[in-house]
Amino acid sequence: MKQITGIPVSSGIVIGRVFRLGRAEQRVPHQRIEADEVSVELQRVDEAFAEAIEDLESLRDRSRIQLGEEPAKIFEFHMGLLKDPSLRKPIEDRIRNELVVAEWAVADEFRIVADRFSSMGNEVFAQKASDIIDLDRRVLDKLMGEDTSRLASLDEPVVIVAHELTPSQTAGMDRSKILGFATDLGGRTSHVSIVARAVDIPAVVGCKNLSQIVENGDWIIIDGDAGTVIVKPSDDQLEAYRDRQSIVTTYREKLRKTASGEAATTDGVRISLLGNIEFPDEIPSVLENGGEGVGLYRTEFLYLTKGHEPTEEDHFEAYRTAIEMLKGRPLVIRTQDLGADKYTQEQAEEPERNPFLGCRSIRYSLQNLEGFKIQLRAMLRAAVHGPIKIMFPLVSTVMEIRQAKMLLADVAEELAEEGIPHGTDVSVGMMVEVPSAALMARAFSSEVDFFSIGTNDLIQYTLAVDRGNERVANLYTGASPAVIQLIKSVIRAARRRDVDVSLCGEIAGEPIYTMLLLGLGLRTLSLVPTQIPLIKTVIRTVTIEHCERVARKVGTFDSERQVLNYLRDELRKIDPGSPGGWTAD
Ligand code: PEP
Ligand code: MG
Repeated sequence: MKQITGIPVSSGIVIGRVFRLGRAEQRVPHQRIEADEVSVELQRVDEAFAEAIEDLESLRDRSRIQLGEEPAKIFEFHMGLLKDPSLRKPIEDRIRNELVVAEWAVADEFRIVADRFSSMGNEVFAQKASDIIDLDRRVLDKLMGEDTSRLASLDEPVVIVAHELTPSQTAGMDRSKILGFATDLGGRTSHVSIVARAVDIPAVVGCKNLSQIVENGDWIIIDGDAGTVIVKPSDDQLEAYRDRQSIVTTYREKLRKTASGEAATTDGVRISLLGNIEFPDEIPSVLENGGEGVGLYRTEFLYLTKGHEPTEEDHFEAYRTAIEMLKGRPLVIRTQDLGADKYTQEQAEEPERNPFLGCRSIRYSLQNLEGFKIQLRAMLRAAVHGPIKIMFPLVSTVMEIRQAKMLLADVAEELAEEGIPHGTDVSVGMMVEVPSAALMARAFSSEVDFFSIGTNDLIQYTLAVDRGNERVANLYTGASPAVIQLIKSVIRAARRRDVDVSLCGEIAGEPIYTMLLLGLGLRTLSLVPTQIPLIKTVIRTVTIEHCERVARKVGTFDSERQVLNYLRDELRKIDPGSPGGWTAD
């Protein structure tokens, strides 16, 4: 038995068998095989090399056409290396003699060759070393890519353990095949975690070296509320967790029954609870959980699952579907928030060194106008079918919002000239998720119809803490007095100009913050759909007067510890006894 405590990111308990999902960039496990498995491993090496050579052939042909003969020679050279028996033979020998998996033999042999080149201390050989590393990735990708197809053909559901997952891998998870997941890396608001909550798959991230210590088929327990992961649990542990699993399920069902109806405080102040979605097919979940509409539609997921630039029709169909499903209820569509941990780095020849501070979100859109305009056209065309609002992400300067609005006006003019029906009176808003935008909220308030405060990023940029880095996860918190002060000043600036303001970061779905947010003056929250019943329950238990008192008190604290302890105590006072859910932070 081995127990690891990671970061709980998606609620629920699962018990199942491990499926290790590999990625070429991660360290390859030193896994042994039986003597009768040697021929299978040799065959895998054969196929992986053949596929890698095939890829290189087409890359060579393409670059010959696009770039000329000289650059194409690089691929020719790489193909030569892969065909060279002096590279291949030692790999096969190690599988036969040391009885190790193909991945290990390949990775270790390539490493030996690369080290040999780099120790020769001359630039030409150093280049050869990096060629070898590149080839190593290519072959390993082929070997480990098999996991995805193996996963698709499983007949019993499994628990995924991986070093790291991408948001698109998580979004593509089939609920009937995947019970839950645990990863070595990640933080509470990394997009992988957000998607896990959206698709309601229990998950724990930041589990250090978990993926190195599990083997396929091991029994594992994942507690997405406490952050506990137990590998090879004892019978007693299994029994205890099965009991807890049924208590949590019953509690969630009970909450869900109270999902419909208004969210109003006991003194009659109505709060609007909307859902955050990544795909239109999450809308039924928003409505079943008692949401009044969609406050944040993260459209970039269209790119993530398609793996290429969506066409205008792809966009249009997605937005029209969402509008039709909502039947006149609110829908805030956010323009593409690509970059950072989403899409562009995987596509880039040269990934950015610091992508969260790089060409992300609105910056990326304004540098890639063609794709951006396609999206804006589709949004305006979809607006004919129902009420939508358009929102721009990660705005950090007034110039950016002006440019974005100008483009929207250009697109509307083009549509008018082409005689294509489109919305003419669409509300335009921006996310406030960068300190510069929060501090200048007053200036921004004369540019837009509404603000939506995105605390996931606002926390990361205010505190200089990467939202996806488990090593600094203890520093990442919405209870920071600095963050709370920024939220407060945005609300104040919005009120002065009569600009609508809401909050759509993950803290909107965390009950510990509900009283504070209402007390600060927020009346619209957008959150992960499955948390709506719980937040509604909290709202129905409190008065606004009490919430304002809570917010005033929080304003007197200067450390996040004090804020958290106080908010936890306040929540405990009104919690009628839930199994862990209410007080989790
Ligand atoms: C946020 O930053 O709070 C937000 C809602 O946007 P995302 O999580 O998609 O970055
Ligand atoms: Mg954000």
